[in-house]
Amino acid sequence: MTKKKVCACVIAILHSLGLFGRSSAIATPAAFGEEFKHKYSTEHFNFYSMDDGTSSKEYGNFLEDFLVYLERNLTALPSGWPVDFYILDDEQSLNVFLKKKLGEYRNVRGAFYPKYNAMFTSKNGGLGTTAHELMHKIVGEKFRELEPWAKEGIPSFFEKIYGYRDKSGPVFYLGYENPWRLQQLGNRLTTLTIEQIVSDGTKSDMYYQSERRMLSTFLFHEGKLKKYFSLAVSNTEKHSGTLLEAALGESMSSADAKFSKFTSGVNTSTKRLLNVPSSKYCRSKQEFENFYNVNRDALRPVEY
Ligand SMILES: [Zn+2]
Repeated sequence: MTKKKVCACVIAILHSLGLFGRSSAIATPAAFGEEFKHKYSTEHFNFYSMDDGTSSKEYGNFLEDFLVYLERNLTALPSGWPVDFYILDDEQSLNVFLKKKLGEYRNVRGAFYPKYNAMFTSKNGGLGTTAHELMHKIVGEKFRELEPWAKEGIPSFFEKIYGYRDKSGPVFYLGYENPWRLQQLGNRLTTLTIEQIVSDGTKSDMYYQSERRMLSTFLFHEGKLKKYFSLAVSNTEKHSGTLLEAALGESMSSADAKFSKFTSGVNTSTKRLLNVPSSKYCRSKQEFENFYNVNRDALRPVEY
């Protein structure tokens, strides 16, 4: 992944609120699809691509199984399917397309626009990018309480995902660090506090997204991510303090000692964590085991 990856969520929100000019230059979803030669549909997606459909099938295979995993482990799915999913040939074409059609002004690797219920990426955008963008739909539509830090903190957590399809269904492993985000945090990693990350929750710079991802990986390793989802989705369980504190079972300030141990553990392991591979979904357990063995050192959990 490059440092260029920016998610277009802010722009998407502006669109959904109608704050962007509705110029006639902005295409309708139907007009997007006309430029793509290949269409491929799965239960939850209509894929449009410029290639022979290979990329659509790869993304479709992964995303349909990712939805099964989400539904089994974290949350019921929202409504509003199928999602239109557009795959450009490369990152440059993606950004030219988004700029021309949607007025996107930043370079992105993937994007979800709620207004169009549409996702965009390129053939080499990667599975982690598609999981991140799809989580914007899930979080945006299912979280009844959406804390600012979580808007990016939760989707970005899913950027690193590995798995395979077993006889009983998809198996996924999560909670890994993302090398370029670690590089972005640099020396500031060990000075982070939960309160600071939460109070920076509305800042748009990419650096802050990486802070928020560190908090969601911490929640995961503490075994609290599922609880966070359950509280955010249902919002009927009474809790004191913030949603994050309710999931942690303690105040942000008292959880900071553990968080500090976690970031120190990550910091100590940075050298091997910079080799964490791109997300991958294998066709079999055997293929996954081979992949895992090659990357065993980088994928070893952080000790703290
Ligand atoms: Zn995002």
